[in-house]
Amino acid sequence: MNNLDKLISLFESFPGIGMRQAKRFAFHVLTMNEVDTKELSRLISELKGSVLECESCHLFFTATKGNPTMCNICSSANRDHNRLLVVERDSDIQSIERAGVYDGLYFVLGGTVPLMNKEPSSKLRGGKLKATVEARMKDGLSEIILGFAVNPDGENTARFVESIIKPIENSENLKISHLGRGLSTGSELEYADPETIKNALKNRQ
Ligand SMILES: [Zn+2]
Repeated sequence: MNNLDKLISLFESFPGIGMRQAKRFAFHVLTMNEVDTKELSRLISELKGSVLECESCHLFFTATKGNPTMCNICSSANRDHNRLLVVERDSDIQSIERAGVYDGLYFVLGGTVPLMNKEPSSKLRGGKLKATVEARMKDGLSEIILGFAVNPDGENTARFVESIIKPIENSENLKISHLGRGLSTGSELEYADPETIKNALKNRQ
């Protein structure tokens, strides 16, 4: 495989990118000037070193000073540490934070459990969720909100998360609610507008 084909196949592995788009990206890179291609490769190669993963919610964040282990949401005393909203991906958190209607904590599961899959993907942070819930319960965590899309895969993911939480000691004291049931069918948090997110939170069941 030559370098161009390698680059096309890498772009093709990006979420939501097919072969045709991957080719367009690769050919676009060929038309970029040298300054931009150098900057692009520098940003990509330095990204992992400058962006950290929060040890509590697993959100990626840019460290400003020192070497913090938690993002500024998890480490903030101004957030409500009694509530934990479990979402599929980082971008869901960005949408909810933009709406400015939620002041609790988050957990990024890292994907969904499609209805057709027998085994959840190893990329999902099931074990880490259990650890975070256990640790947070000592600090007063009382409610877990499941923030998945209203579709069969979202419902299946919610069942997967419930199966992780239920065996935790004293988890009967945790209230589990579903954010998605306040959204319309098929809608995803990532694309929801602030008003929809606000209503979904208010109407969670
Ligand atoms: Zn965090």
